[in-house]
Amino acid sequence: MHFTHDTEIALQGAAGLVNTSVRRPGDVEELATVDDLDAFVRAWRWSGRRARDRAELAEVRDLRPRLAAFWELDEEGFAAQCNTLLAEAGALPRLVNHDDFGWHLHATPDDAPLATRMAVEAAMAFADVLRAGELRRLRTCEAEDCEDVHVDLSRNRSRRFCSTTCGNRMAAAAYRERQAAGGED
Ligand SMILES: [Zn+2]
Ligand SMILES: [Zn+2]
Repeated sequence: MHFTHDTEIALQGAAGLVNTSVRRPGDVEELATVDDLDAFVRAWRWSGRRARDRAELAEVRDLRPRLAAFWELDEEGFAAQCNTLLAEAGALPRLVNHDDFGWHLHATPDDAPLATRMAVEAAMAFADVLRAGELRRLRTCEAEDCEDVHVDLSRNRSRRFCSTTCGNRMAAAAYRERQAAGGED
């Protein structure tokens, strides 16, 4: 299974956005300020109009639980959630080719609010996942102390952790456990 590049970026971006929220006690709110949102937008290379105000920040933050829901929903609910986000935005797909992304779909005008563009881009990508029958690729990190989500884009669906940070931490913990148990490494 291979998604198009823009779909993969959109899926990773949606997971990244979900993970900016407080997923478990002890997490920090990573979109606390407009500056935080600026950094997120830069990191994920969002183009298009920005308001750069508190209202825009609030809209993006409010979108997060609606995207997080995709990691919980069954197929029917997943489809309904895609349809809702697309309908709310009046999504109208069109082919565009900007920067170095190659041809891909935008389904909102460039001057639509940031949260709307984020919602639609995510919904379009999630629609691809559902059409491909690959919902199980939406996963939650298996690290004991992490509830972050990820989309497993590996060929054999073997990705367990949200990040190399979690993967390395769990590998180190497993190593220490083996050492403590006196096992050979
Ligand atoms: Zn684009
Ligand atoms: Zn993790």
